[in-house]
Amino acid sequence: GIRPLIAGNWKMNGMSADAGELKAIGEGTFNGAEALLCVPATLMMLARDALGERVHLGGQDCHTAASGAHTGDVSAEMLADAGATHVLVGHSERRTDHGETDALVSDKAEAAWRAGLTAVICIGETKAEREAGETLSVLSRQILGSVPKGAQAKNTVVAYEPVWAIGTGLTPTVEDVAEAHRHIRGELEKLLGEEAGKMRILYGGSVKPGNATELLSVEHVDGALVGGASLKAVDFLAIAAAC
Ligand code: 13P
Repeated sequence: GIRPLIAGNWKMNGMSADAGELKAIGEGTFNGAEALLCVPATLMMLARDALGERVHLGGQDCHTAASGAHTGDVSAEMLADAGATHVLVGHSERRTDHGETDALVSDKAEAAWRAGLTAVICIGETKAEREAGETLSVLSRQILGSVPKGAQAKNTVVAYEPVWAIGTGLTPTVEDVAEAHRHIRGELEKLLGEEAGKMRILYGGSVKPGNATELLSVEHVDGALVGGASLKAVDFLAIAAAC
């Protein structure tokens, strides 16, 4: 089987005063799973120190260019230089707040690879799309548009995050998660062939200690991408313990 990845996304949260939380995450046990924490750019250096060797460090976004006149942006090379091994690309909050398209997300994934980072490519349908019965077709379109042809299991993770489940406390049924993940695996197989069988597909959206066991036991769910519940080490580690 695929070794699970338990990933946290702090989003626009976290101050230097939260170093203790980072340290506690770094001291956690992950039940044989791999652990990753994606922190704001301002905390990268501090987090690299505080997390120690066992928890990978990730960025939350990167520019497509390696450097240059792009005020306010951070490149994949800069993230790597700060100790990151991963970067989220195409998170729904980036797609919504900053109008990121599938084509841009694909370019960002390739920028991540150029810098030696693993790209965690995020996809997921909105509430309106689910209600219109378009979930699977949206996922197909996002995979085709956002996952570059050269994706390999060692440099790419796909995260399925239904937009309506993010930060709402709502989660899809186990059956719906299973259907979405099976569909994603199938689409990745069409795009990447055999390599798709090794690629991690994470579930994200209101993952909590109380629902992690159920969600992580679904077929083709190879880990979790955790937002709010990753801010507290005790919750994040409880989710990891569900692996
Ligand atoms: P929540 O776990 O807070 O719902 O956020 C999920 C998410 O967007 C992680 O990237």
